[in-house]
Amino acid sequence: MEDFAAQDRLNTEIQFLKGVGPKWVAAFGKLGMRRVRDVLYHFPRRYEDRRNLPPIRDLRPGDVATVRGAIRRVESRTLRGGRVVLTAILNDGTGDVSLTWFNQPWIRKRIEGAEDVIAFGTVRDSRGRVLEIGAPELEFPEDEEDVEAFARLTPVYAATEGLPQSILRKAATSAVTYFLDDVAEAIPRRWQKEADIWGVRESLRQIHRPDSDEHRLRARRRLVYEEFLLMQLALQMRRRETQQEVGIKFDWESLLQKGGTLFADGKPTDIREQLGIMLPFELTGAQKRVIAEIWGDMRRSAPMNRLVQGDVGSGKTAVAAAAMLAAVRAGYQAALMAPTEILAEQHFLNLHALFDRVGIKVVLLHGKMPAPKKRKASQQAENGEAQIVVGTHALVQDAVSFHKLGLAVVDEQHRFGVLQRAALRQKGRENPDVLVMTATPIPRTLTMTLYGDLDVSVIDELPPGRRPIKTHWKRPSERDQVYAAVKEILVQGRQAYFVCPMISENEKLQAQAAEELFERLRTEDFSEYRVGLLHGQMKSAEKEQVMADFRAHELDILVSTVVIEVGVDVPNATVMTIEDANRFGLAQLHQLRGRVGRGSHQSYCILVADAKTEESITRMSTIRDTTDGFKISEVDLALRGPGDVAGTRQSGQFDFKLADLVQDTKLLEESRAMAMRILDFDPELSLPEHETLLARVKERRMVQAAAVVS
Ligand code: ADP
Ligand code: MG
Repeated sequence: MEDFAAQDRLNTEIQFLKGVGPKWVAAFGKLGMRRVRDVLYHFPRRYEDRRNLPPIRDLRPGDVATVRGAIRRVESRTLRGGRVVLTAILNDGTGDVSLTWFNQPWIRKRIEGAEDVIAFGTVRDSRGRVLEIGAPELEFPEDEEDVEAFARLTPVYAATEGLPQSILRKAATSAVTYFLDDVAEAIPRRWQKEADIWGVRESLRQIHRPDSDEHRLRARRRLVYEEFLLMQLALQMRRRETQQEVGIKFDWESLLQKGGTLFADGKPTDIREQLGIMLPFELTGAQKRVIAEIWGDMRRSAPMNRLVQGDVGSGKTAVAAAAMLAAVRAGYQAALMAPTEILAEQHFLNLHALFDRVGIKVVLLHGKMPAPKKRKASQQAENGEAQIVVGTHALVQDAVSFHKLGLAVVDEQHRFGVLQRAALRQKGRENPDVLVMTATPIPRTLTMTLYGDLDVSVIDELPPGRRPIKTHWKRPSERDQVYAAVKEILVQGRQAYFVCPMISENEKLQAQAAEELFERLRTEDFSEYRVGLLHGQMKSAEKEQVMADFRAHELDILVSTVVIEVGVDVPNATVMTIEDANRFGLAQLHQLRGRVGRGSHQSYCILVADAKTEESITRMSTIRDTTDGFKISEVDLALRGPGDVAGTRQSGQFDFKLADLVQDTKLLEESRAMAMRILDFDPELSLPEHETLLARVKERRMVQAAAVVS
């Protein structure tokens, strides 16, 4: 391989490119560019259209134009303040235009007396005299070819100080002229044809030296396609590898028939009946479908690796419970991992109540529990007494061992790293099934990028009888009105949430803000009501007490930080006021709002916000006008970009040079389907024609693995 690398001409240093030279090495280095390959894959950020070549007499202010003529007169003046302005009159036989530069006296020597000059720039008015082009790009053509080379679609690259566009362009032109034959094609002809994409060489040529907009776009299509295809192949290969591992074949049916795991009254019962006894409602069609998919996975030997997506309130808990029930009835333990302690506690309360009805023991385990309790829970996990363990992600990092872990349910906001998953796998002596539940919906493009190695189930239906939440957006100056409206709802016997402004990431400061709002509401605005407080700095027991009081309607109002973002479930609470709502992200607002609208009463969400920037106006009005979490996440993606929507930990996953997860959705879908077709044809990419492709996919897999670690 060493030899191969040394012979690879694409490793030639940039300084040897025609028109570059050693002088520019340091400047290229600042962009992380050293070799010809780097130049070929440093793609233009945009293009200048220099093809418009009108006679000077036809120029109008505002035109972006290329003009050609002879220099007639050059003069320089020093302005007040010391700036030196250089002016040259260019004439093409139809008229004059004046070219100007500030503080670049050396240009004088280059242009003085020039008989044939091309200049490109934006035309502007210059106080009634001849029109002017400020700081134009210049060329002194020697022949018509030079003119053509200049007056075309011209790439504009990401540059750095001390590295002019002209040098970047020369480097690219030279690389494209002399090195394209050395670029190896990763996508064989047959797939190119099927995908309707160009070869890599033509694409690299056209992205740097486009003949037309159409060709530039064709070139981009190919290069984006390739980026997506490599990523999808890497993910799909990992997925296929998991499917070949040996996991657990959960067999609850025969165990139940043999009476091996008896149900409460001593008689074996069908698992569906048991689920019916646990859940106080009928499952929706979507829940049934997703549960069937999960149970199907669990019965197979290959380890389950499934993602369940569903909007806030779509009933993911019931689905997780069905999976855990099956695992326990097949003689295994199940674990549920939540991102925060509060959420773990919520899940514990919910699941404990459900599983109690069928005699299954659920145990809570997280880092902030008192030591003796924690010790007891660990023991129960280890000796198998705990059939279901609910905890935080720390459950994995801590040295908790399980008696017989068969299923791990991961409830998370964002992607749970592959490595953590592997760590969890090691907790079970066998290879446990993994079910990932996302708390917030994410756009399909992100699902395909982040979770492309998982099977995906979507709960696309809300439980019946829900009334869409009505959302209002009010200004801080309208606060009195807002409070009056909340009182009207309280009078009817409902309860209310107040979410305090997000003032800081710092939990102490955040708790302080909640306390201030709590004091104000309790003593002034809502003094006739029972007001409670919930924030992250409170002790577990205090938090549990407040939640229990609110659930039992011993409190009318709950003032809280974002800790209620997930998990809290009080159907009688029908109005939520979010103070300074513009401080929250879209996903967070959607999650918060999901705390109301859980019962049959009409629910309301009131955003109190003074949105000033265009972005915050978009955010507020999106939340006001949309209740569909998937739509909201699309807007979020467009506003913030994939790295922020998914959490920075995964940014390596989005390491694309050209591809754009907002605009290139269709290409992503296409390349994903193509990746599957290629792997159906050659599962290990071991055919000679796939040699280059395999090498590139391996590089990509290393990037993805690194992204998970960091
Ligand atoms: P998610 O976690 O998806 O946001 P939950 O699992 O917390 O949603 O469920 C939201 C609420 O809907 C809970 O009060 C739950 O009891 C209720 N629920 C779930 N599924 C159904 C159903 N099929 N019919 C009626 N209520 C349901
Ligand atoms: Mg949930």
